[in-house]
Amino acid sequence: MASSKQAKLDDIQQQIIDDKVTPELALSATQLVFGDGNPEAEAVFIGEAPGKNEDLQGIPFVGAAGKFLNDMLEMIGLKRKDVYITNIVKYRPPDNRDPSPEEKQVFLPYLESQLEVINPVIVVTLGRHSLNCFLPDLQISKVHGQPKRYKGRVYLPLFHPAAALYNGSMRQTLIDDFALIPTIIQKIKLT
Ligand code: URA
Repeated sequence: MASSKQAKLDDIQQQIIDDKVTPELALSATQLVFGDGNPEAEAVFIGEAPGKNEDLQGIPFVGAAGKFLNDMLEMIGLKRKDVYITNIVKYRPPDNRDPSPEEKQVFLPYLESQLEVINPVIVVTLGRHSLNCFLPDLQISKVHGQPKRYKGRVYLPLFHPAAALYNGSMRQTLIDDFALIPTIIQKIKLT
């Protein structure tokens, strides 16, 4: 039987469809990419929007950036089924353009509902779009790897795996920041 958290997440997914959120994106995309992983996760990872592979498979982070994310999870002893992964915007923007401020805004309440249901120990934001949805005044280049407590939640801003994939120094910084996750989770649980 699905956990009650999973049932609540299914309801939010259906709500996005019923509310006809971003109808233009819904029309151009193959399908809604809602989220993947464990509703009981201690860590939720939030990217920007689905790309081509995600759009085709209906699962977030399954392309090159997703493989890199999976590798980093493995480095800290986790698998995808241990965490929950989603995006701010749930439909692929055409030609992989950046999601617009309006698109991010209109999806935010659904993302907030997802987080309320899962209630993770830490929210890991991937890239500046994701960080600035929650903490608009922070600069990713200055705060990456530093946990930020805000309105009862702890956020860990990380570089986006797609941006870091082919950039040697950013890639190493992301790997180093990622390695902090287990210790940060333990510390939060003790406070
Ligand atoms: N980049 C994102 O931000 N999200 C995905 O799901 C894939 C790539």
